[in-house]
Amino acid sequence: MTLSLTVSRDEWRAHQRSLLADVPGMVPVAKGNGYGFGVGLLAQESSELGVDALAVGIAQEVATTRAAGWQRDVVVLNPWRPGDTAATNLLADPGVITMVSRSADLEAIKRSHPHARVQLEIQTSMHRHGFVPDDLPEDVGTLQFEGWSIHLPSQGSLTEATRLAGTALAHREGTIWLSHLSVADYQTLHTTIGVPTRMRVGTRLWLGAPSTIRTTANILDIHRIRRGERLGYHQSRAPRDGFIIIASGGTAHGISLAAPVPQRTLRQRGVTIAEGVLEATGRTLSPFSIGGRKRAFAEPPHMHSSMLWVTGTDPGVEVGEEIPVTCRMTTTTFDEVTLA
Ligand SMILES: *Cc1c(COP(=O)(O)O)cnc(C)c1O
Repeated sequence: MTLSLTVSRDEWRAHQRSLLADVPGMVPVAKGNGYGFGVGLLAQESSELGVDALAVGIAQEVATTRAAGWQRDVVVLNPWRPGDTAATNLLADPGVITMVSRSADLEAIKRSHPHARVQLEIQTSMHRHGFVPDDLPEDVGTLQFEGWSIHLPSQGSLTEATRLAGTALAHREGTIWLSHLSVADYQTLHTTIGVPTRMRVGTRLWLGAPSTIRTTANILDIHRIRRGERLGYHQSRAPRDGFIIIASGGTAHGISLAAPVPQRTLRQRGVTIAEGVLEATGRTLSPFSIGGRKRAFAEPPHMHSSMLWVTGTDPGVEVGEEIPVTCRMTTTTFDEVTLA
C-alpha cells in the first residue's frame, strides 16, 4: 500500500527517442529526485537511449549514475566552489566535466588540477551563476576546455542564446551547451552557429508525455464520523457527518509541499489569498481524487499517510482501492516506480 508511479515504458521511451531525433546533441538531465523517477532509473534510461553524456546537478549524484550502470561522460551542472570536497575529488575523474563560473575558481582549478575537464558558464538573464559576458576569462591554461554553458530562463530566447554564444565564440571556440530553448530555436542555432551544440533537457524529456505516467495512492482505511466528533493529531471537530478516508502518501513522499508559484499577475495573487483562506478554515484541498474530485485534507498530512474528508453517506471508495493523486514531480518521492 504505497504511493506509486507507473510508467508505460514503451510509450515513454518512444517519446524520449522522438525528442532525441529532434534535438541533435541532447544531454539528458538526471538530478535531485530524478523528476520522480530517481536519478538511477534516469541514468539507465539514458544508457538505453544511447546518448554519450548525462548531466547531474551536484557532485554526489555522479556515483548514483554509475551505480546504475552509466559509463559515459557526466556533466555536473552546479558550478564548482572551493571547499566542496565531493566536487574537488571529481576534478581528477576523466569521465566528469566540471562547471566553472568564476575567475577565482578557474585559477584555483588550474593550479590544483591542471588537466581537469571544464565547461565555462556564462551569466544569462537568469543571473544565477556565470561569468559576465563582457568579462570572460582569457586563458584556461592546460585545462581540457569542453565548451561554454548557457543556462537560459524557461522559454529562453534564441536572440539571447545567439548573442551570448557569439560573445563566447569570439573569445574562444568550443561546444555551446544550452538549456531551455524551444526545439525549433535550438535547431536554428544548431544549424547556423558553426560549432557543435548540446542541449540539456530534463522536464521535457522525462515529463513531456504526461499520458505515459500515472501517479496513484491506495485507500488504507475508511471511518464513519459524526458532526462534532474529534479527529486526528490536532483533535479538530468534524464539521458535518461523513467519512475520514486514510490514503497512502504523506510528508515523507513530499505530498502537499506547496510549490511557490511565480506570481506575475494580480489575479494569481488573488487565487493564492483565496487558498490561504481555505487553509485557515482547515479545509485545504488535497491532491488526492476520490470519485473524480479532489478532496479536502481533514488535517495536515502525516509522514506516510493523509486523512481526507468525504462528506455524506457514501464514501465512494473501498479499502485497497487505488486513487489518482496529483504530484509535483520534482518534490515527490514514490515508494514504487514501475515500468509497465
Ligand atoms: C536542471 C537544469 C536543466 C534541466 O532543466 P529542465 O527544465 O528540467 O529541463 C538544464 N540546465 C541546467 C543548468 C539545469 O540546472
